[in-house]
Amino acid sequence: MIYADNAATTKMSKTAIAAMLPYMDEIYGNPSSLYSFGQQAKEALESARSRVAVCLGCEAREIIFTSGGSEADNQAIFSAAKMGEKKGKKHIISTAFEHHAVLHTLEKLKKQGFEITLLDVHENGIVTAEQVAAAIREDTCLVTVMYANNEIGTIQPIAAIGAVCREKGVLFHTDAVQAAGHLHIDVKAQNIDMLSLSAHKFHGPKGIGVLYAKRGVILENVINGGGQERGKRAGTENIPAIMGMAAALEQACASIDENAVKLSVLRDRLIAGLEKIPYSELNGDRTNRLPSNVNLCFEGIEGESLLLLLDDKGICASSGSACTSGSLDPSHVLLAIGRPHEVAHGSLRLSLGEDATQAQIDEMIASVTEVVTYLRNMSPFWRDLVNGKRQHVFAE
Ligand SMILES: *Cc1c(COP(=O)(O)O)cnc(C)c1O
Repeated sequence: MIYADNAATTKMSKTAIAAMLPYMDEIYGNPSSLYSFGQQAKEALESARSRVAVCLGCEAREIIFTSGGSEADNQAIFSAAKMGEKKGKKHIISTAFEHHAVLHTLEKLKKQGFEITLLDVHENGIVTAEQVAAAIREDTCLVTVMYANNEIGTIQPIAAIGAVCREKGVLFHTDAVQAAGHLHIDVKAQNIDMLSLSAHKFHGPKGIGVLYAKRGVILENVINGGGQERGKRAGTENIPAIMGMAAALEQACASIDENAVKLSVLRDRLIAGLEKIPYSELNGDRTNRLPSNVNLCFEGIEGESLLLLLDDKGICASSGSACTSGSLDPSHVLLAIGRPHEVAHGSLRLSLGEDATQAQIDEMIASVTEVVTYLRNMSPFWRDLVNGKRQHVFAE
């Protein structure tokens, strides 16, 4: 099997698993207990918090552990909205190609009377700091722009956007779920006030994540109950997962440059191979993208059929995000970068893991080429294109 869906989730590293085991076995106490056995868990929890803080360039007390990226996004946005509302500021700026954890939270706020501006995304998959600056108003309380897009992998100018927000006194949140462990993060240098990450996207366990909130940001609870996480996130802490996440994040952050060098060579080889297929186009900027991300559209192809036939060949891929699969709507990300509906349906995302090999890349190129050719030969839509009854969207 070739697993090329690392943007959806990753395999846990041996390091992460080893870091978790003692906390499922011997050190299972509740960190809120007063006896010393529970205190051992408490010490582990606080050491993990410090280690995560070092990876992000912040202080330990600015870290809240959540159940993952979605919860962190929800909490960041609701908190900023509440802070804004108190000052009569009910305008939020985001982008059209955010993850649904952000977009659906914003929709909820819209129903509560907030005004939401979703910035257009340039056809290369990038939003600029100038666009953000032009959209900021007197009543803007939050700007939330993702660090790297989960479908097309494009990297946003986070530090520049942060600088604009800082200058105008507007809170800046970034969904860094695709970036953490893969791109460098320094919340101070990048002017980030709030940031979300999720362990299962960098070889840590599922169901655990982080919300970084700069000192001074007042957090609203999404989960209510006990006083864990300084009263900002109730529920007995998932110590094994937190230990696994801290270990995975340290390991990933230590090898960002090395992995980027290796993966971008494989990525570019895969892109070059797939672009040889006629009437195909790369989605998103060629270089300003995650070293692991390959995403193309093929004219005259139904993404779902492509995925099923690739599955038969032992290749795990995706046609967008796991969240939209199962629905017939084309990806909102591909529509945001201007792909017409009929082409957006024929997309393929291959997201590489650090253990990918050149042989696997070449096998993927051969398999995708074969499957695309096969599907086109059976397609009445494709026949119309060939006969000139329909116009091509892409050049050959
Ligand atoms: C995966 C992902 C999320 C959701 O994270 P979970 O931990 O699965 O809730 C949010 N944003 C982006 C960009 C993602 O890729």
